[in-house]
Amino acid sequence: MKKFLYIFLISLFSCKQDSPVPLPHPVRAYKTKNIFILVMDGARYSETWGEPNQANIPNIRSLASQGVMCTSFYNDGVTYTVPGHTAMVTGYYQVINNGGLEIPEHPSIFQYYRSQFSVPATDAWVISTKDKLEVLSDCIDPEWAGTYRPRTDCGVNGNQTGYREDTTTYRHLMDTLKKYHPHMGIINFKQPDAAGHANNWVDYINGTKKIDEYVGELWNFLQTDSLYAGTTTLFVTNDHGRHLQGVYDGFVSHWCDCDGCRHIFLLGLGPDFKTNYIEKAHYSLIDIPITISELMRIKMPNTEGKVMTTILK
Ligand SMILES: [Zn+2]
Ligand SMILES: [Zn+2]
Repeated sequence: MKKFLYIFLISLFSCKQDSPVPLPHPVRAYKTKNIFILVMDGARYSETWGEPNQANIPNIRSLASQGVMCTSFYNDGVTYTVPGHTAMVTGYYQVINNGGLEIPEHPSIFQYYRSQFSVPATDAWVISTKDKLEVLSDCIDPEWAGTYRPRTDCGVNGNQTGYREDTTTYRHLMDTLKKYHPHMGIINFKQPDAAGHANNWVDYINGTKKIDEYVGELWNFLQTDSLYAGTTTLFVTNDHGRHLQGVYDGFVSHWCDCDGCRHIFLLGLGPDFKTNYIEKAHYSLIDIPITISELMRIKMPNTEGKVMTTILK
């Protein structure tokens, strides 16, 4: 019906050249009703999609054929954990304390979502192995501070109580999805990063493989659950990479703007993405919340990111 109206309006205006009346912009109808961001903390591109056989991410490699893999995806801000995650939920690269001692300047996509859709706090979640990521649930913007916050389940028992194991986080994630059926969330798994800092290559690789398993299991659950199937979008990404071999201490640390620290991947799965599509255009962490706002029809003004239009159907 919309199509006929559109054709009718085009034919109506086409007889008047330089018509001052703008053509109607067709509103895209998206199927996404739920969106989750899963973060594999601190895995370097050279050990994920950039590894020649993608041997450390077999589930992600296989799932990529059902969705979009962005191979020129970057953290273009500070390559630490809290700044990276802040970019993913606020759409801004902010120089923010990495120890959980500071909350973001700008409201998150979760706060915008809750305020515009009048949904309860249990509808949006920050679920994280790292306690400090609890800061993602609030901001200092005086118009938003303390309001419309998502629920949090971070670290041992909240900010400044220490990291827990990824297995615990995965169990909490699944329990939360089944109990509350939230529409949005961000999930952080620490192990590649934690093992890298401990200079343990074997654990770094095994941690990456384990999170890849979680991605496979989570996507399988989302496709079989009656409330999530067919209407759920999943982003899988990293908050930052690690130094390239030969830069500072190599895979042990991260913080600079070398390609190892900045270059990460983004997997997009869901009903509104192209399938079996490799995206080579440069996209960046701050584009994630803006793309979520587009898919979920959430107004998110004045951010620095852009909608990743080329990955959409
Ligand atoms: Zn990190
Ligand atoms: Zn670096």
